[in-house]
Parts: sequence; structure tokens; C-alpha cells
Amino acid sequence: MLNELLEDYQEFNEDEALDEFLRLLWNSKYGCRTYKKFYTFNLQPSALNNNQELIDLFEPYQKIEIKHAKSYYKDKPSSIDMIRVHINNMYMYLTNEDVYLSKEYFNAKIQPKKLYYEATQKLKNGETIDVDELKDRIHKSQIQAEEFRQRDVDKKISISFREYKSIINNYILRLFNNYKPPHEYEKLYGWEITSYHNAWHEDNFIVKYFCKSLTGYMMNYMKSLKPKIEIIKKCNQCEVSYKPNSNRQKYCNVCSAETERKRQLIKWHKNKNKYKKLPN
Ligand SMILES: [Zn+2]
Repeated sequence: MLNELLEDYQEFNEDEALDEFLRLLWNSKYGCRTYKKFYTFNLQPSALNNNQELIDLFEPYQKIEIKHAKSYYKDKPSSIDMIRVHINNMYMYLTNEDVYLSKEYFNAKIQPKKLYYEATQKLKNGETIDVDELKDRIHKSQIQAEEFRQRDVDKKISISFREYKSIINNYILRLFNNYKPPHEYEKLYGWEITSYHNAWHEDNFIVKYFCKSLTGYMMNYMKSLKPKIEIIKKCNQCEVSYKPNSNRQKYCNVCSAETERKRQLIKWHKNKNKYKKLPN
């Protein structure tokens, strides 16, 4: 299916094949979807020695909710749907404030669950628990989680799906032009891709080609959005801030010129006897 579209486009110059691909891609029923995952533990009062303070402390964290982007579907999406799901998820990665947050956020967020198991283990071993210290650790973990979340969200960009779609369309055109079917790929790179020698496998090859390439293109796009950092240095002599022309520059332009002038002067004094005086 996908291989036919790419072949028609490349071998017979059929622009309709690209149009058909884009039509199927954007009409796919797979939209941007997220799901909630719960990180739970079963609070057992007896495991906390029926200590009410501890029970109250852990109670609110029995069911910690974290959102994820949906990338697996049981209803067997077609090859083109799989590319669409990847495109959707990249969009959510770039823009959605609830999903694709860092591991650090995740770990801080579910910290109370770990602390619960740690506490029950301690009690089981007959150790005592400093409730205030524990309260503090839980509190801090949640503040940290919020800080990580904010940091992650600040890295996201705001771009409408429409805008995103037009960027992707340009990349897809490029991918249609650059595509090398497995048998050509083998000739070029000398790899035998035996498992791709039928239509179904070739489609898998194409899905991978699209997903990997689009990820690369989008990463470059993100990099291009980052403002270039302007390096400002402080002059070693007059402490004025300046924009260095090279990594090694230590003085501002004024001081650099001044030191250079002094250096030349010293050199001149040192060597002046070497120069023959011109006759009057
Ligand atoms: Zn200076």
C-alpha cells in the first residue's frame, strides 16, 4: 500500500500519489490522544502500626495520576495510521503541557509511593520513624515535582496544529523525493535487508523511515527556534562588559587596543638602538 504510493510517485511522477498519501494521513481517525495512568499503593493501616499521623500523611498519595501520550492501539492501525500517531505524538511532545515530561518530574511525583514502602519496611524491622522528617520529605518531593514540571513546560513551544501540519507536509514532500526502496538501499549501502522482501515488510520499512526522519527534521526545527546565546565577558582590566571577538580575548576592545599600543612601544624602545639613524 505505502510502497505503491511511493513507487508511483518516484517512477511515474504521479503527484496524485503524494496527494493520496496526505489525504489518508490527515483523514486518519487517530487523533492526539492521551491516557491517565495511576501509580497506586494499597495503604494498609496495620503496616503503619495503625499510626493515625502516618495514615493521614500517606492517604492523599494512594493514587498518583500521571498523563501519557497514547502510542499503542489494539485495533491494528494501518501503516499510514502509525505514521499519523507518530506525528501526533511529536506534536504533543512539542506542545502538550501534561505529557512527555522529564523522568525527574516523574520520579519526584511518585516519591510518596516509594516513601510509603520505605516506611512500612522500617516499621517491619522494628525501627522508629521520624514523622516530621517524613512529612518534610514528602512535601519537598512535591515541590520539586512542580519545579521540574514548570521547567519542562517552559521548554514547550506554542504552535497551532495547522501550522505544524504545514511544516510536516513540507517534510513529507522531502521524504517522498528522497525515499530509497529496500532493494536500492541494499545496492547503495551493501546491506541485505532480507526481511523486507515483501509488501508488508516493505511497509514496515517505510513506516520506520518516515518516523525516524520526521523526528530528525523536527529536532532540527526545534534547534532553529532556540535563540542564539550571546556571550558577554567582563574585561580583565577595566571590568567593563564586552562582546568578545574570540574565545581567547581577555580585555575589552579599548583595553585591548591600549595594551597592544604599550606592547608596541616597549618593543620599539627595546629595539630602537638597532635601527640606524638616518643621516641628517
Ligand atoms: Zn577594558
